Amino acid sequence: MKFDTAYSLSLDDKVSIYDVRDLNFDETTDFDSDKDSFLCPSDACRAAFDATNVLSTFNAKNVNYLRTPHFKNKPGTRHIDGCRYASSQKTANGESDDEREENFPSEFVLTRRQYERKTPTVGTEGGLPQEPPKAPSNQATTSHSNSDSTPDKTSVFAHPVECYVSNIDDKDKLKAMPLKIGEHTATYWAFFKKIEYLQDNKGLIYWGRIKAIKDYTSSFRIDFEKKVWLDKKPYSVNVYLSKKLIENYRKRTAFLEQIKAAASSERPLYCFFYGVTPALKQVPSKKNPEQTFGVFSANIENLDHLIIREAPGVE
Ligand SMILES: [Zn+2]
Repeated sequence: MKFDTAYSLSLDDKVSIYDVRDLNFDETTDFDSDKDSFLCPSDACRAAFDATNVLSTFNAKNVNYLRTPHFKNKPGTRHIDGCRYASSQKTANGESDDEREENFPSEFVLTRRQYERKTPTVGTEGGLPQEPPKAPSNQATTSHSNSDSTPDKTSVFAHPVECYVSNIDDKDKLKAMPLKIGEHTATYWAFFKKIEYLQDNKGLIYWGRIKAIKDYTSSFRIDFEKKVWLDKKPYSVNVYLSKKLIENYRKRTAFLEQIKAAASSERPLYCFFYGVTPALKQVPSKKNPEQTFGVFSANIENLDHLIIREAPGVE
């Protein structure tokens, strides 16, 4: 089964697979998921085994992925009776549940999560990674179930995007699941807006199939296939990624690898972004600089809130 979260031994905290991906590509941290150990997120279950009872990761390091990233049991991973992550739990039809993201965060947090490294302790004997929280049994609170439950927020944009893309065949679910971004709360279905309808509402996650990626060596422009109609006239839509934005990006290497591959890819690719809304601008014509033409355009302000990926079935 897939794990919505896992306990990271090096971070001494519970993380999603999207947190792990974000850290793996982050050049400002020395995190490497291959050198970390991921354990069952259930505090009680984890306390019952030593730190060698680990989970494995799937798609933790692929820059481009098709199948939903996740943690899962290794063949020998053990759980205590009643642990909700025990592998005896199968999907109803017994098929692999790897095909979709089932953990829908209810909030996309715009500021990046900060991880506090566990200070290496002297004389660690590979024993219990963490004492289970000692909740007094007479305390009428839900503290225990809270600590075991799925983290409800994410600051990694890939997570809500994966929820949307991998569940695109289940519109009822997307229309039922709530999502909060900033002060705005809507459903997943309402928050994801096709680029051609960007005039409907501001502040959404816009997405569309990429027509072309213009590689200006140190900056890029992403052109969308669909056009925006205004006063019965069609206008092209694009987003611009500046040189400064890319140079200062903490995941620069992974990003450049991805966008350069995308620029020359023959496969249908989609761009998802949040934080800016393309607006009508007049730009000079290349052929005739005296003339201008209208285009809906925006400068991306945060590369953490932009994704280029395949998205089978979204159209
Ligand atoms: Zn467990």
